[in-house]
Amino acid sequence: MLTSIDGPAVRPMLPAGQPEQLFYAFLEAAPDAVVITDGDGAIVHLNSQAEKLFGYAREELVGRPIELLMPARFRGSHVAQRQAYYADRHPRPMGSGLDLFGLRKDGGEFPIDVLLSPLLTGTGTHVVSAIRDMTAHRSLEDELRRRTHELEKADREKDHFLSAVAHELRSPLAVLTQVAYLLRSPEADAAVHQQTLGMLERQTAHMARLVEDLLDLTRVRCGKVTLRREAVDLRTVIPKAVEICRPLLDARKHHLELAPSPEPLCVNGDPTRLVQVVSNLLTNAAKYTPQGGHIRLTAASKDGVAAVSVRDDGVGIPKEMLSRVFDLFAQVTPAGEGSAGGLGIGLALARQLVALHGGTVEVISDGPGQGSEFVVRLPLLPNGPHAT
Ligand code: ADP
Repeated sequence: MLTSIDGPAVRPMLPAGQPEQLFYAFLEAAPDAVVITDGDGAIVHLNSQAEKLFGYAREELVGRPIELLMPARFRGSHVAQRQAYYADRHPRPMGSGLDLFGLRKDGGEFPIDVLLSPLLTGTGTHVVSAIRDMTAHRSLEDELRRRTHELEKADREKDHFLSAVAHELRSPLAVLTQVAYLLRSPEADAAVHQQTLGMLERQTAHMARLVEDLLDLTRVRCGKVTLRREAVDLRTVIPKAVEICRPLLDARKHHLELAPSPEPLCVNGDPTRLVQVVSNLLTNAAKYTPQGGHIRLTAASKDGVAAVSVRDDGVGIPKEMLSRVFDLFAQVTPAGEGSAGGLGIGLALARQLVALHGGTVEVISDGPGQGSEFVVRLPLLPNGPHAT
């Protein structure tokens, strides 16, 4: 009871003619935890919200210093701040701009906001602290900060991506302009025409691939890709993927070793998409391996899972970047000279397509200059010959 601590001192503050209980009722009705301290910082009263918030019973706190309710690291400075407040007391937030913490009886800390206001009594001025648990608020703030950071990052990546797209389109466009010039040239004979048409085909194919990748990416992100699934033997996927990459492999004089499984590797998949995934890995191996490099493509099965691996002895990937190569727009190393660059969407797309098949893609590399290996794993069909 307040009267047992302060006697009738508080009474002058009560509305005239109202019972003292009204004061306590106000205190209990407060939405926040309220702790009242005297000029020495000793707790003289608290409401049940404060008991609940700090995990103490009223009797355990009355007469104890207010510093008991804060972590030890703040106690020393708080005594000085409390005295400063006393010298210039008016309603204000405590420690504005500071991260304040409360300390529960069980030792747990939690973020708080505190509003201070003086309470004039017959025995001197007390200080009323209205304390609010900010745990939910702070975690919301943290979440907002995290999301803002993510959005800023995504925004930067989009900018980077737009400039990469523009860059990617500039080279084929330059070639197409040259093609038009050559075709118009009165000196162009049949041989030049043939050569020019070859350039035209390569560049339009490159641009078409680019546009397809961009469209696929949007489709996958909007969940609009539907797989046309059937029983596919992965051994039929490999030659199709190789055929797509053959011009680049040849242009870069790579040695491709194929080691397909002698047994069928039947999965429930979309053959076109699976060819797309494997050709993407193969194209990367060709792009990120210096001319005349070695690429090995293997397919095998183990424990009911089919594994297609594309290994190269190329530029490799730094350990710290391994987890990032599947991120959208991630570009770790520039593509080798003579190979088309990239937009950093191929692996992101490949991973999503494999995930749609219920599979995974793993990257392994011992670091720069050590080559890389990408392994696609897909569940084998239960009744397939190698589904054990
Ligand atoms: P990009 O269009 O840039 O090739 P990808 O999504 O296919 O985009 O690949 C992302 C990044 O991963 C590449 O920019 C490259 O840094 C790295 N990477 C992919 N494959 C290989 C590889 N076989 N060897 C080394 N780095 C690779």
